[in-house]
Amino acid sequence: MKKVLRLLLLFLFAFVAYESFLSMKDYPGSSEQVDYELNAETLPTELHPIVAENVEVLKQKTAAKGITIVITDEYRSFEEQDKLYDKGRRTPGRVVTHSEGGESYHNFGLAVDFALQLENGDVIWDIEYDGNGNGQSDWFEVAEIAKDLGFEWGGDWHRFKDYPHLQMDFGLTINDLQEGKRPKHSS
Ligand SMILES: [Zn+2]
Repeated sequence: MKKVLRLLLLFLFAFVAYESFLSMKDYPGSSEQVDYELNAETLPTELHPIVAENVEVLKQKTAAKGITIVITDEYRSFEEQDKLYDKGRRTPGRVVTHSEGGESYHNFGLAVDFALQLENGDVIWDIEYDGNGNGQSDWFEVAEIAKDLGFEWGGDWHRFKDYPHLQMDFGLTINDLQEGKRPKHSS
């Protein structure tokens, strides 16, 4: 029964995760000056180094609070995104995304999805779980630490909540990224 619930939660999260692109339009991006370079020729093939660095810091800071997180998804190629998009449309299964290749921050190496890991190795998507027993949900504690590090959290989005999703947009919209604008690799 627990497993069924977990699966249901997973599906729910997967669904909202892929709806999240739409809600990004609600966010004008940070007001700080955008520091980018134009690089329309090449697409990223991995997580942006500043994002990767902050993910490592996030893991350390949450571990210090007795919370273990796992990154379940990070960089996703356009092809991988398109494959997901085909699901429920051209290939069997249910529709899991409304974002085609190039429409997600994952496609530009600027987003990761996290989940919690229990001591026995189980990975859970329970946003109420309080494993460190401090009276606060571990999930929300992770989100708070991530936000302090400069991540935008999908759980804060208004139209679609994407609880596992963390992204750094460096002030660039999906349109900017599609036009070839890229965050610089160091600040
Ligand atoms: Zn995500």
